[in-house]
Amino acid sequence: MAISRKIASSLENSSWIRRMFEAGNVLREKHGADRVCDLSLGNPDVEPPAAFQKALEEVVAARVVRKHGYMPNAGYPDVRARVAAQVASEQGAAVDGSHVVMSCGASGAMNSALKAILDPGAEVIASVPCFMEYVSYVDNHGGTLVLASSRPDFDLDVEAIESRITPRTAALIINSPNNPTGRIYPEATLRRLAAMLLEAGKKVGRAIYLLSDEPYRKLAYGGAAVPGIMGIYPHSIVVSSYSKDLSLPGERIGFAAVNPAAEDAQKLVDGIILATRILGYVNAPALMQRVVCSLQGVAVDVEMYRRKRDLFCSALSSMGYQFAVPQGAFYIFPKAPGGDDLEFAKALQEELVLVVPGRGFSMPGWFRIAYCADTAVIERSLPGFERVIRKLGT
Ligand code: PLP
Repeated sequence: MAISRKIASSLENSSWIRRMFEAGNVLREKHGADRVCDLSLGNPDVEPPAAFQKALEEVVAARVVRKHGYMPNAGYPDVRARVAAQVASEQGAAVDGSHVVMSCGASGAMNSALKAILDPGAEVIASVPCFMEYVSYVDNHGGTLVLASSRPDFDLDVEAIESRITPRTAALIINSPNNPTGRIYPEATLRRLAAMLLEAGKKVGRAIYLLSDEPYRKLAYGGAAVPGIMGIYPHSIVVSSYSKDLSLPGERIGFAAVNPAAEDAQKLVDGIILATRILGYVNAPALMQRVVCSLQGVAVDVEMYRRKRDLFCSALSSMGYQFAVPQGAFYIFPKAPGGDDLEFAKALQEELVLVVPGRGFSMPGWFRIAYCADTAVIERSLPGFERVIRKLGT
């Protein structure tokens, strides 16, 4: 065997999102791409805003010495300062450029932060359902992801999280607005979480870090506020990107921001910068740093996603599907009719509609729809949803 046992086993157990993507390729080949309704991927269908194209053209045209050269591993100082000002206003904390590390997307930021805080054998808690790449990201740095259940309305269950804390707990990851539920965690919940983590930190004799994964922060509907964590819990790190709110997932641009009030804040920043280098990212893409610098606070038109959400939600609820209307992001997470998410996803595949079974988020019995798809695709998928719920029952 030439490749490592770990990677060989990961290849065999590839993620459900990946499996659905591959199933989609087979269906597209057989039936034609225009007949398949792929609602499995969180790949934004909305084009980046016009301001992005303008900023990109300006950056490309500008004559700058060593425009494509190496730079400080944390990113350009002026970009870090602009990102910090935006984070400070969203989070209610005195973040400045020295607390920000530019990254290759939110995933790159998460990996750099985890590398900076995890010792071998450390545990990181996440609340299910969650983005399951966290399992690999934590494992990459010698840790183990420990899952805690959430409340029936998908809010964080602070008691369930507390019950998972051990002397090995290094961090907790939260994600709001959430993939896959679209839930935004209310400020009251975050305050209770913070109080619990502070107490637990005293018991384990060091801070338990809170990593807040926020790539969907700007995709919130009806003016819903996404409470910032930094003003609530000192030992916090925000990781985010421009993948979803500017529709730039292929450009791999994001950042990590450390709460200045965190234990060992300066060492933490230095650790994240070093991790960025030694993980081989070296630094975030140069051109994209310059582009997003002038686009702080800018996002795609969230109304477009809101209309898709409403179209889907009203159709699904009239068919009898059970789900909570998402408050943000671009996913709906309903109960699988009949109770078996695999059987349901297979029945839907026969209708040429692709969704991800809930077990792909550690929550069997549910399924995820990604509605960041063309409205025509959403409309075309609806009769399939109707036939499958009739076949499998509510
Ligand atoms: N975190 C969550 C919850 C996500 O859903 C995703 C992507 O789908 C990421 C992180 C990764 O984002 P990026 O593409 O910016 O690395």
